[in-house]
Amino acid sequence: MPYPAGRNLPGEYASKLGHLEVLKSPLVRQVIENFEQPDEVGNTSASWQPYTSTGEPLDIIFAVDGSWQPISDERPPFKQVAFVKTALIRVNQIELNQIDKYEPHPLALRDLMSKTAIYHATALPLRHIYFKGSSVYDAVRRIVFESFKDDSLEGEVMETFKWLAYEKWSGSPRQLPEFECPHEINGETHKTTLDIDAEEGECRICGNQIFITDMLGFHLEMSENAASESVPAAYMNIHETLLLFTGIRIYWEDKNKREILKQCLFMKDGPLQIRAQYSKLVNPIRRFLQHAHSEGYPIHIVGQEKTGIFVDHLNLIAKDVPDDHLFIPDHKYICEQIQGRPASGAAYGKDTNYGAKIFWKPNRNSQFVLNVPVSSSMAEFIKNPDTNKLIGLDSILTTLKMLISAKHENAFFPIELANSIASLSTYPSVQVLQLFTEAAIKNR
Ligand SMILES: [Zn+2]
Repeated sequence: MPYPAGRNLPGEYASKLGHLEVLKSPLVRQVIENFEQPDEVGNTSASWQPYTSTGEPLDIIFAVDGSWQPISDERPPFKQVAFVKTALIRVNQIELNQIDKYEPHPLALRDLMSKTAIYHATALPLRHIYFKGSSVYDAVRRIVFESFKDDSLEGEVMETFKWLAYEKWSGSPRQLPEFECPHEINGETHKTTLDIDAEEGECRICGNQIFITDMLGFHLEMSENAASESVPAAYMNIHETLLLFTGIRIYWEDKNKREILKQCLFMKDGPLQIRAQYSKLVNPIRRFLQHAHSEGYPIHIVGQEKTGIFVDHLNLIAKDVPDDHLFIPDHKYICEQIQGRPASGAAYGKDTNYGAKIFWKPNRNSQFVLNVPVSSSMAEFIKNPDTNKLIGLDSILTTLKMLISAKHENAFFPIELANSIASLSTYPSVQVLQLFTEAAIKNR
């Protein structure tokens, strides 16, 4: 999402609201005047610190991205399906250096991708799609389960999910945290779980079939015959996370390859965050990253936020900041200056984030909102941030400096590549999807 760096807000705005009757109220008048004032948040209490990274650059770069697209039938009853796609690419510094960063040759890109990219696609029914003997509710649950086992990825994503959820990396796997059973008894909900390492089984309370993926709680955003659009969005984010951790798991499980892991950078488009009920994966992820760090294997993961309130805020505060500076907002700053709420209550991101937010300005033309995991508890870190507790920060920033895109503003080249594969608007086109969806809907 490009935006002009160092833009100046105009000093005067032409009023678009002046002619309305309602403005006769003095209170409304005040609100409107305030709204029309140019924002002058330029000097907040942001404490930027100089930071010149001296770490070794990382050689192997993984980047993950995804996209999803709802397709609606325009005739009643307005059937709707969502297509979701995720992609993971692997490139090394040597290959990257061979590609022209200003005008990458499409054939060079194609060759690179065919060797080193994997992708996954699925479709989720959202509205008025009927299956024999099954509701949208049960169909989505089953499709999520089967999509995690995607044969084209040899079931590796499901393995990663189990590896994280049961904490199999620890040598003594844990029970899943209890979750809400997707089947109610007389309109009442109940909690359930599965045996260690199971992918599916019978609920111990109601005896109905449950899947390991039910733990994530997709069913909490569905009714019998419709699923909310937040379902495909959550599916995409979780699948991206699992693709990234599949790379990490494969190196981790082979002790001879753990040294290679130290040389890898894992990049994700978007925050290192899993929201709401889906956040049950966050604690297992944090525990693994802290375990690997304490064993002497720092795992370098970085998320880049391209949109949202943190990016908007950076645009306001980064203007006069010198090169090679960073700022880590703490809990109080995030609540009061960014979210506009009191700083009382739970620590920011306590349950949902596995990376801390960093504002980074490497040079006068670029500025980034990054997320990097921490080696301490997130709740502790966010109250008193410390660059030494960000896992592998020095190597991450050295590497990122080499990956800044020459083509787009505030972009990293590997994320652009992953985006070009995962973007549904280019592959395949929405029109093509629409064509096939309509045919499929008619045939039911
Ligand atoms: Zn049950």
